[in-house]
Amino acid sequence: MINKRFKTIGLLICLFVSLTVSAQKYAFTHDDTLRGSITPERIWWDLAYYHLQVKLNPADSAISGSTTIRYRVLQPKQMMQVDLQRPLKIQKIVQDGRELTFRQDGNAWFVTLQKPQVTGKTESLEVFYEGQPKKAKRAPWDGGFVWRRDKAGQWFIATACQGLGASAWWPCKDHMYDEPDSMLISVTVPKGLTDVSNGRLRRVTEHNDGTHTFDWFVGNPINNYGVNLNVGDYIHWSDTLQGEKGRLTMDFYALREHEDSARRQFQQAKPMLKAFEHWFGPYPFYEDGYKLVETPYLGMEHQSSVTYGNRFRNGYLGKDLSGTGFGLLWDFIIIHESGHEWFANNITYKDVADMWVHESFTNYSENLYTEYYYGKDAGAAYVTGCRALIRNDRPIVGIYNVNHSGSGDMYYKGGNLLHTIRQIINNDVKWRAILRGMNKTFYHQTVDGKQIEKYISQQSGINLQKVFDQYLRDTRIPTLEYKVVGNKLQYRWANCVSGFDMPLQVCLNASGPNQRLMPTTQWQTLEKTGVKSLTSDSDYYVYVKQVK
Ligand SMILES: [Zn+2]
Repeated sequence: MINKRFKTIGLLICLFVSLTVSAQKYAFTHDDTLRGSITPERIWWDLAYYHLQVKLNPADSAISGSTTIRYRVLQPKQMMQVDLQRPLKIQKIVQDGRELTFRQDGNAWFVTLQKPQVTGKTESLEVFYEGQPKKAKRAPWDGGFVWRRDKAGQWFIATACQGLGASAWWPCKDHMYDEPDSMLISVTVPKGLTDVSNGRLRRVTEHNDGTHTFDWFVGNPINNYGVNLNVGDYIHWSDTLQGEKGRLTMDFYALREHEDSARRQFQQAKPMLKAFEHWFGPYPFYEDGYKLVETPYLGMEHQSSVTYGNRFRNGYLGKDLSGTGFGLLWDFIIIHESGHEWFANNITYKDVADMWVHESFTNYSENLYTEYYYGKDAGAAYVTGCRALIRNDRPIVGIYNVNHSGSGDMYYKGGNLLHTIRQIINNDVKWRAILRGMNKTFYHQTVDGKQIEKYISQQSGINLQKVFDQYLRDTRIPTLEYKVVGNKLQYRWANCVSGFDMPLQVCLNASGPNQRLMPTTQWQTLEKTGVKSLTSDSDYYVYVKQVK
């Protein structure tokens, strides 16, 4: 492989600015393959549990600590890959009290295990590390560690690492296919500062060196980039939701200096949960609670501790992405990042090439939230309004096994794909059952995008393969061509993948009857008198063109 990298995996939240990329050619490095594929040194062991212990030394932007990795042996192999990104360094690796030898290959570390690894057994080892982790240049897109101070001069620190990878700040198996069943996160910080991580706070241990340790326990599988630490002079308040699975605790953390604004703005969390439980089923992490935590960057879908930096304003930093006005009725980061609890944290991609499973559904969740409170037309206006942001620059699905994500169109075009599929299914009860069914069927699982495509086809009873291929793997927008020949209307799909066969709701003449056509790429004829023009239902993301 050559040393050219062209990656755009930083696009986590919506709105990425103009970082894009029309490059059609990619060259990937050996590092990309080690990071992005399920290597032989990864596949033989199954993550069971992590205990991350990390101590922060803000004065020199340094950290040190260890990860205990408990795993089940699936195949009897002796070589294990652990990931930790430069400039961090592994100091030692210990199994059963014995120090192991290891070699570094870029950001991957290959450990030779001494103890025979027996299939079916559970083993553990501890990886000790230290250094100054990568500083985020522009979190969350170009992530890493954020070291800031609040107005009072107190430290305000956070991590965000989607795409980049959790190994940017702690040793782990840095591939999304495998998640531990549970995790303990122990963060040591100077007294006066509070750490908020994922899950529930078990205890705070005071030390006599001016520091204290926060132990946060996550009782559910968690993906790597979902793990986070947030450190600051936080104030904390709580609420509860009587939700579909019973009582859900809600905890809020904001900087002391923002208490009033945060208490006002964070009230949106409860109606958000109510709307999303309606559409997607129970919040997926009742055991770990729901938290909303202020951060020094815009926001991220950290599991059970959604992070927030949207300046306590509605919209996306005060702007409406849809251009309809509906986007100003709610706080983009509270709605979008929390929507990811269902699509990202509950149902998680195995490979970032399928990042649309996170972002398309979560973009779509913004419109469903709007629909829940402001009506179906408002929701539709929101999602179709977002079409102005679609670029059709490259396919939504990225390249597998090299940690490469597809086009930023995974947001707005992906949302419009789902909105279009809802029209094809043409049965809102069934559509909602599919959204809820997905969250049940793939509960706490990592998936391939194809599994989601198949599930929607199967549950709807419609083969949507060509529709997915068109919108996820091609950049062309299908165009319904039609011509009027005497009293006949002829029509077909053009500018599309071979065999494209999507049904389409159309209106004949400007105010004429609605009709559902079943176009294919072959010309078809409708015997109809008096047809002069045809328009498509605007809920479908397609073009229509009259030809001679
Ligand atoms: Zn997102």
